Amino acid sequence: MSETELFIHGESTPAAGEATLTLVDPATGEEVVQVAAGTEADVDEAVASARDAVTDWTGMSTEDRAELFFELSDALLEREDELATLEMEDTGKPISQARSGVRSCARYFEYYAGITDKIRGDSIPVGDGYVDYTVREPLGVTGHIIPWNFPLNILGRTIAPSLASGNTVVIKPDEHTPRTAVEVAKIAHEVGFPPGTINVVPGHGSRAGAALSSHPDIDGVSFTGSVETGIEVAKSAVSNVNPVHLELGGKSPLAVFPDADLEAAAETAVDAIFGRNAGQVCTAASRLLVHEDIHDELVDLVVERAGELSIAAGPDDPDIGPLVSEDQLDRVQSYVDVGRSEVGEPIIGGTSPDRSGYFFEPTIFDDVDNQTRIAQEEIFGPVLAVIEFADEREAIELSNDVEYGLVAGVFTSDLGRAHRYAREVQAGRVFVNDWFAGGKNAPFGGYKSSGFGREKGLEAIDSFTQTKNVCANIEF
Ligand code: NAD
Repeated sequence: MSETELFIHGESTPAAGEATLTLVDPATGEEVVQVAAGTEADVDEAVASARDAVTDWTGMSTEDRAELFFELSDALLEREDELATLEMEDTGKPISQARSGVRSCARYFEYYAGITDKIRGDSIPVGDGYVDYTVREPLGVTGHIIPWNFPLNILGRTIAPSLASGNTVVIKPDEHTPRTAVEVAKIAHEVGFPPGTINVVPGHGSRAGAALSSHPDIDGVSFTGSVETGIEVAKSAVSNVNPVHLELGGKSPLAVFPDADLEAAAETAVDAIFGRNAGQVCTAASRLLVHEDIHDELVDLVVERAGELSIAAGPDDPDIGPLVSEDQLDRVQSYVDVGRSEVGEPIIGGTSPDRSGYFFEPTIFDDVDNQTRIAQEEIFGPVLAVIEFADEREAIELSNDVEYGLVAGVFTSDLGRAHRYAREVQAGRVFVNDWFAGGKNAPFGGYKSSGFGREKGLEAIDSFTQTKNVCANIEF
């Protein structure tokens, strides 16, 4: 018997087949539990359940829907201990970071509770004798494919605006981290979400994920994950003429100028690559661009701070926990080997500490050429490339000279320079003298290969609704 089943039509449901997912504790490498893995038949059932629920959900008053969102948000916070422990066990992340994931998920429901009754259309003056207006209508059933790095946060980010827009949802969590999604759906049902509004099918990407993104009876897809898989998902969605939006990877630059507060810049640079989820963050600042005049001073400060970071298992609440899986550890180690051949020895780190589990030391390569693989490709781990620049123009060119465009940041005390950088950098979000700033109400999404469409904020409602235009002849 698997401990965690699927959640379909308001009930825990066994998978149609025998397949399971083996969850492993990233801090020890030992098996924790087997959970059910859904396949195509389960996705069919979940989509049918979501389809049946559409009429009731869209028919519910916006006040009642908002009330359910508030109740769900409260219930998630009441269960913070339990949810954070599951999130920590599945991902390996430090317990305080897992707690922050629960609070973040709850906050998305609270924020979008306030939006349910504010989705409005326009009135358009098409000419005498006509009344023309638009209505924003839900898509119907939306599919949500979620990665392993922030399972609860990303779940809240993607399903709350879709549900607020009047859609019902089917979620495919990542194979390493399926349990909290099932728990959220159960809690939502307990507080009164009608059966079928939130369905969860854990399973392998190639089976459950592919079945969901290509399903002929869904009406939209939200995908967060790698570029490679995102392209596959988008092709499937487009073959059903469905809207899709993609939140993909990044290789984000943090540019530091000589007029910056260097202590603050160093502290932020360390937090932005090592301080969250062991660097397995789509918005990690994995490229530190440093002006040549302050190179030595800034790098010394960054190395000093990175050297103070603690590494331990999640319950000890260190700065850096283990990576999520053995595959991820192998990926990071192999990129560090590439870095050694391209650049030379890292100035700190470069290896796993001497202990079991999937830990990796914070690693910094200095004097990196922006054309190397470690400066161009997303490593998704605690590895920083330091790249030197001579002037503002070069900092902007280097920032933009990658295939990604998720976020970027600049440290400077020159207001004009900050805004010139923000204007010219190709990224969906730009931080000035900060990193990881911005609330649930600020839109988020990528330029270039980092994706398209926006989540968070009011913009997310556009991703999960369609516009109907009504043009009435009132002199008929
Ligand atoms: P991934 O693409 O391998 O997997 C993401 C999800 O897609 C998982 O649920 C997986 O099961 C599913 N999947 C895999 N193959 C599939 C297929 N053929 N069809 C449908 N679904 C499939 O990505 P990952 O390694 O789990 O996540 C890391 C990536 O996610 C990184 O590139 C990271 O930058 C990106 N990410 C982006 C954001 C963002 O908001 N932009 C946030 C977090 C992570």
